[in-house]
Amino acid sequence: MSRELFKFKGGVHPPEHKAESNGQPIHPPPLPRKLVIPLRQHIGNPAKPVVSVGDHVKKGQMIAEADGYISTAVHASSSGIVTAIDMQPVPHISGLPDLCITLETDGRDEWIPHDPLDYQAMAPADLRMRLRDMGLAGLGGAVFPSAVKLDPGAAQTFPTLIINGGECEPWITCDDVLMRHHADETLQGVAIMRHLLGSTEILIGIEDNKPEAIAAMQAAAAKVDFAVEVVMVPARYPGGGAKQMIQTLTGKQVPSGKLSNDIGIQVFNVGTTYALARAVHHGEPLISRLVTVTGHVLRPQNVEVLIGTPMHTLITLAGERDGTTGVLMGGPMMGVPMPNLDVPVVKATNCILVKSAELFPPLPKALPCIRCTRCADACPAELQPQELYRFAKAADFGRAQEYHLFDCIECGCCSYVCPSHIPLVDFYRYAKGEIWAREKEKRAADLARERHEFRLFRQEREKKEKAEKLAAKAQAKRAELAAAPAAEGAAASAADAKKALIAAALARAQAKKAEVTPKNVDHLPPDTQHEIEEIEARRAKIRELARKPLEPEDKP
Ligand code: SF4
Ligand code: SF4
Repeated sequence: MSRELFKFKGGVHPPEHKAESNGQPIHPPPLPRKLVIPLRQHIGNPAKPVVSVGDHVKKGQMIAEADGYISTAVHASSSGIVTAIDMQPVPHISGLPDLCITLETDGRDEWIPHDPLDYQAMAPADLRMRLRDMGLAGLGGAVFPSAVKLDPGAAQTFPTLIINGGECEPWITCDDVLMRHHADETLQGVAIMRHLLGSTEILIGIEDNKPEAIAAMQAAAAKVDFAVEVVMVPARYPGGGAKQMIQTLTGKQVPSGKLSNDIGIQVFNVGTTYALARAVHHGEPLISRLVTVTGHVLRPQNVEVLIGTPMHTLITLAGERDGTTGVLMGGPMMGVPMPNLDVPVVKATNCILVKSAELFPPLPKALPCIRCTRCADACPAELQPQELYRFAKAADFGRAQEYHLFDCIECGCCSYVCPSHIPLVDFYRYAKGEIWAREKEKRAADLARERHEFRLFRQEREKKEKAEKLAAKAQAKRAELAAAPAAEGAAASAADAKKALIAAALARAQAKKAEVTPKNVDHLPPDTQHEIEEIEARRAKIRELARKPLEPEDKP
C-alpha cells in the first residue's frame, strides 16, 4: 500500500530545466592552481585557522578548527602551500569579503593518512566530535553543522528521519545525479544517521520528476538491513524545502518559530548523507561536493568540485559563451548573484547558474502593488507577502515581525506570481538584514550598558568596603582609647609602688647610716679624740637640720 501524501499550501510550477544537465556523467574536477577556502562556510562560528602562511599542507588536512559547539572545521582540498590568510571575496548575499585561507596547489594532490571509522564501536558523542572535526555540514543550503543535527539531545531519539531528495529548484540537478550514481553510499550514510538518532521511521522523499534517482534509491534501499521507505512526491516548487517535505510525507506542520526537531523529525539532504558515508567509511573530511554548472554554457554538467575552486574554472570547463549577463549561486528562485567569478565554491554551492538575457530576460519595471493577493495564494509559509512588502518598504520592521517575517523561507513564489513584478524577496531580505543589524547593535548596546552598570556597582561596592574598613578601624581605636585610662592607672600604681620601694630602701639606708656605731677612738690622743667628737657633733647637727622642714624665712 502506497503511503498517504499531504499537500502543502501554495507553491508554483516554474519551468524545470533539469534535462540540460542531469543526463551527463559526473565529471572529474580539474585541479586548480589556487584554492581560496573561506573559514565561514557554515552556520555558527567561523572556523579558526591552525596553519600559517608558508606551511605545506596535505589534502584533507585540517587548516581551521571548529570554534564552539555550532561550528565545524575546514580542510585543505588539495596539497600545497598556504600563501595567504586574509580577506577575500566570497559567495555571499552581502557581497562582503571574508577571512579565507589561500592554497597554492603543488599538483601532487597528496592525501593525509585517512582511515575508516568503526562508528558502531564509538561512543556517539565521540563520533559527533570526529564529524565536526571532519567539517561535516548540511549540503542542502542551510549548511548547518551536521554534528549538531545528529545529536538528539535530551529527547535521546528522533523517531522520524527524512532524507530530502526533493531538489525542487529549476536547473539544479546535483542531488538527482548523486542519487543516480551513488545510491548505495547514500544509504550507508542513512544507516549512520539512524545509528546516531535512534530513528524508527526512515523516509526518503524524491520528486516524481527524477525517475532514475527513485529507481536507484529503491534498489539501494532493498539491500540494507533496516526499514527505509523511498517515497515519490509530486514535483511542485518549493516541495524540496524541509518544512514542505515534512508536511508532504507526514502531514505534520512545523509550528511558527520552531524547528523540525521540535516535533521529533530530523531532515537531511541527500548530499549530506553521502558526505557522511565518505567521512565514516573512507575517513575523508568534507573537501568537495557535487555542483551543477548550467544555464548559458556550452556543456551543462555536474562536477565533483574541490571546495575553494574559483567559479570561473568551472564555467570555463562547462564552456563559456558570449552574452553572459550574470552568475547565480543556486537556482533562479533562491539563488544569490555573484560579485565576480573569482569567488570560490563553498560547501553551500549546489549550482552555478550562468545567466543570459535570452534565458533570464530582465524583469519589467516594478509597478505599484494592486493588492491582488496572488502572492498570498502562492506562499507556502502561509504568510501575507503583500503586507510584509508594505511594512518592509516603510521600514516598519516591528509590524513585519508581527506578520512572521522570519517564517519566510525566501522561496520567491510571491515574486514569481506578482503581476506588478515587485522584487518582493529583496524587500524581505533587506528587512531581515536590518532587523539582525539592529538586534546586533542592541545586543552590543545592552552589553555596554551591562558592563557600565557592573563597573558602577563594583565601584560602589569598593567604596562601601573601604568605608566599612575605616569604620572598623575607628571602632578599634575608640575601644583602645577607652581601655587606655585603666591601663594608665595600672601603670601609675605600678610606678608609685616602685617609688615607694625606692624611698623605703633609701630610708632604711639613711637610718642605718644614722645608727653608725661610734668609732673606737680610745687609742687616739686626746686632741684628736676631741676633734673627732666635734666633727661628729657637726654632722649630727647637719643631719638634724636636714630632717627639719624649711621655715618661710629659710626659703630662698
Ligand atoms: S502579487 Fe504583487 S501586486 Fe499582487 S498583492 Fe502581491 S505584491 Fe501586490
Ligand atoms: S518568499 Fe517568503 S513571503 Fe514569498 S512566497 Fe516565499 S515564503 Fe512566502
